[in-house]
Amino acid sequence: MDTFKWESVEKQIHSLIKNYGYGEIRTPAFEETGLFIRGVGKDTDVVSKEMYSWKDQGNNNLTLKPELTAPVVRSFIQHNLGRLQPINRLYYIDALFRRERPQKGRQRQFHQFGVEAFGSENPEIDVEVISVAYNIYKSFGIDGMVVKINSIGSPNVRPKYLKELRVYLKPFSKRLCKTCNHRLDTNALRIFDCKNQNCQELLDEHAPLISDFLSDDDKKHFEKVLQLLDHLGIPYLLDFKLVRGLDYYTRTTFEITSSELGSQDALCGGGRYDNLVEQLGGEPTPAVGFAAGMERLLIVLEESLQDLRKSIDIYIVILGERALPEALKIAHNLREKLNLTVVTEPSQRGVKAQMKEANRQNAKFAVIIGENEIKSKFVAIKDMTKGEQVEVKITSILHYFSNLN
Ligand code: AMP
Repeated sequence: MDTFKWESVEKQIHSLIKNYGYGEIRTPAFEETGLFIRGVGKDTDVVSKEMYSWKDQGNNNLTLKPELTAPVVRSFIQHNLGRLQPINRLYYIDALFRRERPQKGRQRQFHQFGVEAFGSENPEIDVEVISVAYNIYKSFGIDGMVVKINSIGSPNVRPKYLKELRVYLKPFSKRLCKTCNHRLDTNALRIFDCKNQNCQELLDEHAPLISDFLSDDDKKHFEKVLQLLDHLGIPYLLDFKLVRGLDYYTRTTFEITSSELGSQDALCGGGRYDNLVEQLGGEPTPAVGFAAGMERLLIVLEESLQDLRKSIDIYIVILGERALPEALKIAHNLREKLNLTVVTEPSQRGVKAQMKEANRQNAKFAVIIGENEIKSKFVAIKDMTKGEQVEVKITSILHYFSNLN
């Protein structure tokens, strides 16, 4: 029932992203499991708890894609896209799968749109990617959105930071949940993703923040990102705890939230991932992107989309069996010659029932064809919005509707 809402939202997203010069990429529904383990990270929630994985008859480990950056990177490497042009701007709208507890705004099969820009480490590309997301939401008239932003620096600053974080957390390890206790030894950064209140409180108290460990280059990069955001008038909130739940991020991380969403308030999230292409076997290629939940956008748009009723151009009201062949011919010509949406009455009902159906389908016009009309070679055309009705010669119907599109 909601597909027309999806279509209309998707159309706007395709068109806006294309305005920035991004081209659509489509990847398969599943990939080798190893891609996500290597790309997303084995201690992330996505990989450790949420993947739908299986072995096929050839003993290959496969997984329904739980996120889209790793598949896009795999494809970028496999098809050598980096050789074609220095900067590759790609985008997608696609379905993905995560074994999560379903709730409002959180499904096991859901959809994301997103962009990935390969080939530049310059802060202007970070800002371009953030502004694609921001301007899409703005174009839908979304209020109450906040761009949260942080820099988690380049990977070489991470070991020092993680050491400090462990030193801080170790004495409180009993207060950490079981998963985070494990993460403390394997991948302490992921403790920031934990939804357990005790773990979050511990981090809130006096945990060291990665922002205090950035190199001078990281700081310069981040300052430039913020400057350009200021320049473009994109408001943001610094959030030094924003590390994002996937292992591949470097430097800029960001999230856009909406106060209209309730507890699952993230509309989209993204950031820079300068090492992922190389890590997955490609040439070193800096990159940045974001992924945004379609269902969450539709939740926020729910009210404004109510007005967007599905509509057709013409409903053909057919009165009497002998009018049927001529009516079908007229409908065919209108579709073929004028590319109009034309629906014909399928059962021989009375005129009242058929006009009611035309209304229900939100038709702009009803063309009424009966046996008398066939004899007189005229049909009645009713403008359903204005309520006005005119007689038009059968041979002039195409001309009458030729200005409709
Ligand atoms: P992530 O890939 O986890 O960074 O998520 C990016 C965006 O996808 C989030 O901000 C949400 O809008 C959306 N999202 C993530 N997981 C789900 C889910 N299970 N159901 C619906 N939307 C989701």
